Amino acid sequence: MRAPLPLAAVAIACAPGDRTSVPPADLVLRGGAVYTVDAARSWATAVAVRDGRIVYVGTDSVPRGLIGPSTVVEDLDGRMVLPGFQDGHVHLVQGGVELGECALFTLDRQEIADSIRACAAAHPDAPWVRGSGWELPAFHQANPSKELLDSLVPDRPAVFDAFDGHSSWANTKALALAGITRATPDPLDGRIERDARTGEPSGTLRESAVALVSALLPERTDAELLAGLKRAQNLANAAGITAALEGWTSESNLRALAGADSAGTLTLRVVAALDGEPDSTGIDGLTRRLATLRARYRSDHVRPTTVKLYEDGVIESGTAALLAPYLDRKDDAGKPIFAQPTLDSLVGALDRDGWQVHVHAIGDRAIRMTLDAFEQARRANGARDARHTITHLQLIDPADIPRFRDLQVLANFQPLWANGDEYITRLAEPQLGTARSRWIYPIASVVKSGAVVSGGSDWSVSSIAPLDGIQVAITRRAPEDPPRTPWRPEEVVDLPTAIAMYTINAAYQLGHERETGSIEVGKSADLVVLERNLFAAAASEIHRVKVVRTLLEGRTVYQNKLR
Ligand SMILES: [Zn+2]
Repeated sequence: MRAPLPLAAVAIACAPGDRTSVPPADLVLRGGAVYTVDAARSWATAVAVRDGRIVYVGTDSVPRGLIGPSTVVEDLDGRMVLPGFQDGHVHLVQGGVELGECALFTLDRQEIADSIRACAAAHPDAPWVRGSGWELPAFHQANPSKELLDSLVPDRPAVFDAFDGHSSWANTKALALAGITRATPDPLDGRIERDARTGEPSGTLRESAVALVSALLPERTDAELLAGLKRAQNLANAAGITAALEGWTSESNLRALAGADSAGTLTLRVVAALDGEPDSTGIDGLTRRLATLRARYRSDHVRPTTVKLYEDGVIESGTAALLAPYLDRKDDAGKPIFAQPTLDSLVGALDRDGWQVHVHAIGDRAIRMTLDAFEQARRANGARDARHTITHLQLIDPADIPRFRDLQVLANFQPLWANGDEYITRLAEPQLGTARSRWIYPIASVVKSGAVVSGGSDWSVSSIAPLDGIQVAITRRAPEDPPRTPWRPEEVVDLPTAIAMYTINAAYQLGHERETGSIEVGKSADLVVLERNLFAAAASEIHRVKVVRTLLEGRTVYQNKLR
């Protein structure tokens, strides 16, 4: 469902056959399948760009004068042009840093062990062996042991974050340095996994317990953060992405983003979601701190206009807040991070200060509490064009689905996750039962309700490629799966909807839909050229379609060398 655009979508400047003289363009792409994602979802074959802006969208018979002596004219040979993809939730700096370290990202326990050994060997002098990306289903009950990690890294403390950042895996030396023993109580909003017989910490830490060890790790330097950002933006541009919401931004991450922008090396538009966790200074201290960051770090392509809150964890490790208990955990429905009165005060204060609030909510209770908080903020501060967003949205109670539209709250899904894989079938569904499992990732239901639905990757949690997400949104099967019945076919969306989620709707979420998100005269030339027309490809082949070229403001920021 596309965003209700406030401007009457900009008209095509020159109708086919119009031969009025215009100044020459810098670049003309023609002979393509240009899907504009404008209000009428119209098609064209040519686009022209001058000074970074789109100056013509139409047929190949371009207006007289548009092609001058210095205009670069390229024949697309039937390739597809779309607005540059936009990612409504990603972790660029953090993901890029992790990419340069020991990144596991595999379900194969042997490969995990080999990678960890290789990382330890590659950094013999590092005081810690650290890395990320272990997949929960690789271990019994998503619970890897300290003994296994001891066998791989016996000489130094070692800690590895899970792929989703909600769990970490520590060896005996790391647990000892953190002072975690049988006597250590679980921290608020966290859990130290323990041996069922002895009560000894077993090596896996959940949610806030992760920080007991991670707080001991050396801080990343600004140079490391900047290098991480460069790695991430190259990957994003190669996937056709020209804008993104940085899903959690510390001040040092913001410094990296703003630094890259002022050096002219940032090749993405970034809306930064600042860390909204209150400290001992309370909500007043938080709002003062945030106001300073907003004033200090705004630049051409970086807008710190959003605040990120977490309201729960994840279903697979039993940390999502549910309305009814997990089936395998008697009486335990998971705990929300903020109690309702605190969440209401926090969201109310941020809304009052003009922030867009972006909340991680996965369980049906956390989602309902977040909607309640948005409703309360509207009542307290008055309705405004706030574009508050809930991200991840794994299990939505059907009674809450219409509330997204009613409260003008955006739904940011990670469609790639809605694929019926082991996370769902082995870890989530058995804990939820059949009736509740119907409402896992109900993307089509939220679209049909009339809410604005955007797409995002949550990279480095999962693939950054929008084409992977688009394919799964329309097939509800993993990208590499052979064509077969969709998992929960009632929640399949069509291709135009899936494309809108990653273009105009994400642009609306990011607050720059007047500037980007569709191919229309007057907008910035943020474009992606694809090897093939997605509408002519088999659904199961979409993830194989190559990104040929990505342009930001008319400048090529990625070109496929295979071309
Ligand atoms: Zn995230």
